[in-house]
Amino acid sequence: GRELQADAVVVALPAGPASGLLRAEAPAAAAELAAVEYASMALITLAYRGSDAAALPEGSGFLVPPVDGHTIKASTFASRKWGWIAGDDPGLVVLRTSVGRYGETEILGRDDAALVAASRHDLAEATGLTAEPVATRVTRWQDGLPQYPVGHHARVARVRAHVAKLPGLAVCGAAYDGVGVPASIASAHAAADRLTGHPVPGRFGGAGE
Ligand SMILES: Cc1cc2nc3c(=O)[nH]c(=O)nc-3n(C[C@H](O)[C@H](O)[C@H](O)COP(=O)(O)OP(=O)(O)OC[C@H]3O[C@@H](n4cnc5c(N)ncnc54)[C@H](O)[C@@H]3O)c2cc1C
Repeated sequence: GRELQADAVVVALPAGPASGLLRAEAPAAAAELAAVEYASMALITLAYRGSDAAALPEGSGFLVPPVDGHTIKASTFASRKWGWIAGDDPGLVVLRTSVGRYGETEILGRDDAALVAASRHDLAEATGLTAEPVATRVTRWQDGLPQYPVGHHARVARVRAHVAKLPGLAVCGAAYDGVGVPASIASAHAAADRLTGHPVPGRFGGAGE
């Protein structure tokens, strides 16, 4: 119920909540945003004693194509990428797998133990790692990843055109110009620049970078 006076507003929300907020002022943009679909996923983190994971192949992880017939869609050898992730025990090897492609609701309905078991099965097939992990954690991300079907770019252009009719309003985030932190930051910069009318030199490869 609190009212806030602002010269400009950047709506930096996932498409669903953004649609809800814009429904009264920008109904056409809200309708477009309501149609953006999201995929849910879960991350399974597994920690191993270093000696148990000695045979882990080189590299920082792997991707699994859908046609491969496995549950996991990727694995990141997290402690190889970020040494600090093993915490106080540098002897630990920490891996992550992810499950849940778009539309795969059955897999995400399984309990944590089943997701850990499926991850261990697929990891064993891909890397030979069969040891018992010393710790596991399942983290679920409901509606974490916006989907970009054919026509998404045009939908985003329509959203922006509708929103632009309201001076002082802009939108940004993963639903617009790319799913990922760098693309989200770039879309936030672009939204701020659009509202201030003053692109900051140095952004997007301009002078000063
Ligand atoms: C499991 C997972 C792993 C990922 N790994 C990577 C990676 O390795 N590299 C990479 O580049 N990207 C990665 N991504 C994608 C990246 O996290 C997103 O692209 C990025 O966080 C999107 O930023 P955003 O600001 O658009 O949305 P978000 O980070 O989702 O921020 C939206 C914010 O809006 C808030 N919010 C929602 N509803 C409301 C409401 N009604 N009122 C107020 N606030 C609300 C939320 O709490 C949230 O803080 C990953 C995503 C997931 C799910």
